[in-house]
Amino acid sequence: MNSELTAFITLACTSGVLNVYLCAYVLIKRYNYTNIANYFIIYALSTTIYCFGAAFGLAATTLDQMKFWTTVQYLGLPFSPLLGLLFIMQYLGININKKRLIALFTIPSISLIMVATNELHHFHYKVFEVDPSLGIPFIHIEIGIWYLVHGIFTFGCMFIAFLLVLSRWRETSKVYRPQLIALALGQLVPMFTAFIYLIGITPPGIDPVPIILWVPSLLYLWSINSSRLFAIMPFAKDAIFNSINDGVMVLDNTYRLIEYNKASSHMFPDLNKKMFGNDFDKVWLSITGSALPFTLDSRSPAKEITLTINHSELTYQVRTSHLHHANNTKGLVVIFTDITEIKRLQVKLEHQAYFDELTQIYNRRAFFQKCEEEYTVARKDSSPFTVLLIDIDHFKLVNDTYGHHVGDQMLIHVAKVCKEELMEDTLFARYGGEEFVLALKGRTLLEGKVIANLLRNGIEMQPLITTEGLISVTLSIGVAEVTEEMETLHQLLNKADKALYSAKREGRNQVHTYIEV
Ligand code: GH3
Ligand code: MG
Ligand code: MG
Repeated sequence: MNSELTAFITLACTSGVLNVYLCAYVLIKRYNYTNIANYFIIYALSTTIYCFGAAFGLAATTLDQMKFWTTVQYLGLPFSPLLGLLFIMQYLGININKKRLIALFTIPSISLIMVATNELHHFHYKVFEVDPSLGIPFIHIEIGIWYLVHGIFTFGCMFIAFLLVLSRWRETSKVYRPQLIALALGQLVPMFTAFIYLIGITPPGIDPVPIILWVPSLLYLWSINSSRLFAIMPFAKDAIFNSINDGVMVLDNTYRLIEYNKASSHMFPDLNKKMFGNDFDKVWLSITGSALPFTLDSRSPAKEITLTINHSELTYQVRTSHLHHANNTKGLVVIFTDITEIKRLQVKLEHQAYFDELTQIYNRRAFFQKCEEEYTVARKDSSPFTVLLIDIDHFKLVNDTYGHHVGDQMLIHVAKVCKEELMEDTLFARYGGEEFVLALKGRTLLEGKVIANLLRNGIEMQPLITTEGLISVTLSIGVAEVTEEMETLHQLLNKADKALYSAKREGRNQVHTYIEV
């Protein structure tokens, strides 16, 4: 056996061994991988059969042996490119239905039958004999009609797979591009080798493809080991990952950043791929300038965080969830949902629900809610509690004389002046129409009367300034203090209303206290 032949056999065997290794490696780890692993396993298996068939063929000593090993090769050879294509389609997230799958497998199956029964019809090889000048194991062939079909199909599979891989180049992030290159070369190398074989550039009498198949095999091996081929989701999932609006960051089981999606980089402009492998606390500090405000634990409930990014205040809801794979914790997913707009609306709605639109002080609903709380506490402590009911005198006249618009201005004015006279924490609200209410916890009737007079005086001294001149206005105020053990807030307000009525009846612009009869 000459040394060149030995080298060929060695290389074909190397390709075969590498494919056995790939096959076994992915088979053992298939539970950690996605379902594309299954296609890859049979792809590598068919390539293995092809390579070893070729190697044994080169070691043949008779024409019958050469024919036998060629048939063995065809158990893998015609299936390998199709399986390669199917593997790549799965990897890229392209599905194919069962009918088409069966149709596709028909051609390589016929090729196998054709080669096995070639003696009977010579459709595959018109001539298959020992090369007259080189001798065994070099083959001289003349191709038959089916060989052409088989050749076109084989090239077609590899070429389509190659184009599919290239078509994803643009949309693939840089970290995955080495994988794409490996996959593209995995198709291109055998395709190119088969091509130069067919045009007669390679050494005669030998199929050079199995001799070169160790190259793509090494590329696959590298991809699987170092660039996470299979381990991270295929491109279909990658596309989904990047298209969701929530920011998603993936941490490994030691809480180091290993992946993030497009939405994350929009949310955190300082986030970059150089941070891969860094502890998440550090990453967080770099991208937000502050310490991590939530715990990295999937058991903790969703948390709201407010951040200032690029001078704008944003509110995110943060959820964390552990990643489990084959019963092991593989890492943590941190999901950020931008709820800034929802929060803004919530604040606005809350404001609308509790504040009077015109005067921007509490409305009646807010008054009762807050006052009931304060009232209950005061009743428990048996501390004094006083309320004031304030009504603008002859307000209808203001409306009738100057118009509703000026009436509105008057309401705003009264609320503003009263607020200025009152302590910050005094519960003061618009009770309805041109009436206001005040709750004074811990204050007696007399203290309430003092405050009431302060307000009445304040308004009397500060007329409303309008384009039509100064408009004076006065207030009538009824004051009542809780006296009975079982007295309710409504009963108390009722007493204040009676006092107010009395103030009106007595000529307005005065403060009346409720006196028990
Ligand atoms: P009195 O001294 O007895 O309290 O007389 P009055 O005119 O103030 O009382 P009355 O209850 O007859 O009139 C209250 C008026 O307040 C009637 C209503 O049209 C007006 N009003 C109620 N709410 C608003 C408002 O939001 N804006 C304006 N401009 N007027 C309002
Ligand atoms: Mg009134
Ligand atoms: Mg009034």
